[in-house]
Amino acid sequence: MIHRFVFNPFLENTYVVDMGNKEAVVIDPGCQTRREKQELEAYIREKELVVRYTLNTHLHVDHIYGNEMLKELFASESIANISDQIPREITEKPIRRRYWPFADIEPQIDRYVKEGDKLVVGENEIHILETPGHSPGGLSYYIPKLKMVFVGDLLEKAKLGTLEYIYSDKEQMKQSVKKILELPQETLVYYGHGDFSSIKQEKCDLGTDLEH
Ligand SMILES: [Zn+2]
Repeated sequence: MIHRFVFNPFLENTYVVDMGNKEAVVIDPGCQTRREKQELEAYIREKELVVRYTLNTHLHVDHIYGNEMLKELFASESIANISDQIPREITEKPIRRRYWPFADIEPQIDRYVKEGDKLVVGENEIHILETPGHSPGGLSYYIPKLKMVFVGDLLEKAKLGTLEYIYSDKEQMKQSVKKILELPQETLVYYGHGDFSSIKQEKCDLGTDLEH
């Protein structure tokens, strides 16, 4: 079972996925204001879910506002890819302008994962796919039994994700998208922004975009 919130001025999708046995993951908690945080907390408490992991598809600020809150309230362990960590200068000050355009917070990451890693939550396995392009450490989370994949900003419905950052890479993005499109075609695809789709539908919609 899945619940979507749309949070913050970037209209970012935050997903709560019930993985069975009352265990859950939260994908990209974008809750920024006190009210948004309360809304997410209330939902989790009402459903009596144990949040095991906060899964960050990437570390853009609109996707990580709630990391700290989920750790504090629910002891949820936050997961990301190390290639998305903020490069630091020798002074240990993050290079915020270049890599972190809107930041007033730093991500709280407990564990870095890589391609092929698996997490077991409730009755489900989560497969980690490295899908760089929008950002160098972009991850997708594939849950085979639930037939769902969460791709962050790699894609939007029927189009490739944005390449607006200095480290965005179109070739990497195309390779990552091809990897996603190899998943079973009935798999539903959930994005960082906007409505969901399916692998089957994305294959139709994206076809020629991947060729040039
Ligand atoms: Zn992004």
